[in-house]
Amino acid sequence: MSIVTRAAGANSDEKRPIPHPNYEGHWNADGSANAHAPKWAKYRAMMVGEFPSPFRGQKDELAHQIKHFVEKIDRLRPEIGGPAYLGTKPALTYIYPDVKNITVRQEMSKIDDVIDDVIELYQGAANIGSPLAMFNVVPQPNTAAIIASMLGQVFPSNYLEEETAWNVARAELESGGMLANLFGWNPIEAGCLYTYGGAGSFTYGTKYGLTRVLPNVRKTGVRTDAKIICSQQAHYVQQTATDWLGVGMDNIVHVRTDEANEMDVGHLEEILKDLTARKIPVATIICTMGTTDANAFDPIAKVRKLIDRYPNPAGFGKAILYADAVCGWSWIYFKDYDFESNPLGFSNRILPIVKRNGQAMAELSHADAVGIDFHKLGWAPYVSSCFMYKNAAEFESIHRRDGGTYLQARGAYNPMYYSLEVSRAPSGALAGWATLKYFGKEGMQAILGGILESKYYLLDLIGSHLDMICVNEEDSGFVTLFRVYPKGTDAKAQYKRELNDPASRADLLKHNKMTETIGNKLFKWYREGDKVEGHYTPYMSFTTGFRTTAYNRDEKDPEAVVYALKSFPMNVAISPETMKWVLHCVHAARDEVLKP
Ligand SMILES: *Cc1c(COP(=O)(O)O)cnc(C)c1O
Repeated sequence: MSIVTRAAGANSDEKRPIPHPNYEGHWNADGSANAHAPKWAKYRAMMVGEFPSPFRGQKDELAHQIKHFVEKIDRLRPEIGGPAYLGTKPALTYIYPDVKNITVRQEMSKIDDVIDDVIELYQGAANIGSPLAMFNVVPQPNTAAIIASMLGQVFPSNYLEEETAWNVARAELESGGMLANLFGWNPIEAGCLYTYGGAGSFTYGTKYGLTRVLPNVRKTGVRTDAKIICSQQAHYVQQTATDWLGVGMDNIVHVRTDEANEMDVGHLEEILKDLTARKIPVATIICTMGTTDANAFDPIAKVRKLIDRYPNPAGFGKAILYADAVCGWSWIYFKDYDFESNPLGFSNRILPIVKRNGQAMAELSHADAVGIDFHKLGWAPYVSSCFMYKNAAEFESIHRRDGGTYLQARGAYNPMYYSLEVSRAPSGALAGWATLKYFGKEGMQAILGGILESKYYLLDLIGSHLDMICVNEEDSGFVTLFRVYPKGTDAKAQYKRELNDPASRADLLKHNKMTETIGNKLFKWYREGDKVEGHYTPYMSFTTGFRTTAYNRDEKDPEAVVYALKSFPMNVAISPETMKWVLHCVHAARDEVLKP
């Protein structure tokens, strides 16, 4: 039994007078502010009622607002067959930069008014769930992931350390485990950090190389021109990462890519040989595993062999192999698909494609670290990016620093000692984890394969029109790039000439210009809510140069490149009717721009 000892003579009821007794007088018995209370107390009483209730069964403003919010969201959505934007007012409602000239209002606002204002911000925003939306790698987030990430907003849990994350940490830890198992890594030995996007993952991957390769770099800063090697097709976040990390964009070395947009390992070997001869270390080599548009995969197993064959000079650590799989990561789900029995019943049209993608991604096992965006080919909300590393003991120890004195490690899981961010929102991890659990293997295979079936349906449809041609038939992702020519043109023959024959350069440029005008016309129709034959038109995009002509491989002629219209379907609801309608609208736009 513990006994609290007191100084002799002390009486627990003995009190000094409270110097400022008014505070108690502000409140009524029910917690409301009394009529004479100061204004701050009245505000506070109002806020107590408007913040989410901490207790069950109370009048809860959060629940009340969510109920109305659901109705308001529904009012933002178009009627069936409506446009590919939300609300009824597609036009931009602000002028930049004048819009920034705004001050905080004096009085507190009504919560309903603020939420109405938020809803208004979404007037005209792309309705990503619409089958008509196919403009870029922007998937509609799945419901499980939306709810999961919202929970992280309602109850803040910080992925700083075990104490503040508690059981919510399982979302990050188990994501890492599930993904490691997909890659063929040891899930216990691997680790992961959710971060601020593919750019964040790339930064982690680059930093991992700098830390491992350059001795003492964390204290002295980067004092050696260590190289960051990636292919010509690598994402531009290479610049973001090298710039912000201080290694410098000039230290990026580009490896040529081949016809299929994949890293040319012959050229990589030349580069490594040269660097070895000059005693220059390589910090990180990046393999892009699924480029954003062409879905090209670098031959990562061969790159691994080259790293082993050309070690860094004495005194430097071993280069890190980072796989930028943020876009195409989920093709890994086809690594172990049974292509013989084909349990999901995919068509013969797409079976060889998903097989190829799955085999390319099987090589992820060779990476030291991998970046994954659930908000790309994972159908999760922004931002849900996972940086995975194979050797957690190494990564977490070589980046270790001490936490602040106000943090006490309560358990084993404390990313605060090695993560780039300090306060770390759990929303991304909750979304990623819910996505992994919700789809399972078959759900993810079904969504990927299903959209691919739609893409190849579109591709075949394009082939059935004499005046149209698909120009990226080899690509194995969701993107279809195609050109439409004036009525009556044999698109196949015409494109062949434009691609190969310098004498057709003038035609190429003319039709490039026409492609751009059609692309802009389609955008204008979408953006202004115009209709073709009484129906809304698709939200697509176009590319001003996805490849050069055959006679312009060295890119000396900046204009001899191929423009194309682009369909990037990401939507589970896309149907054959949608794809037919897309081509109908493209024809309508062409006729409109060619109208004399
Ligand atoms: C989108 C993308 C990135 C950048 O990722 P964010 O999540 O947008 O920061 C990097 N690499 C590739 C291959 C991408 O497709």
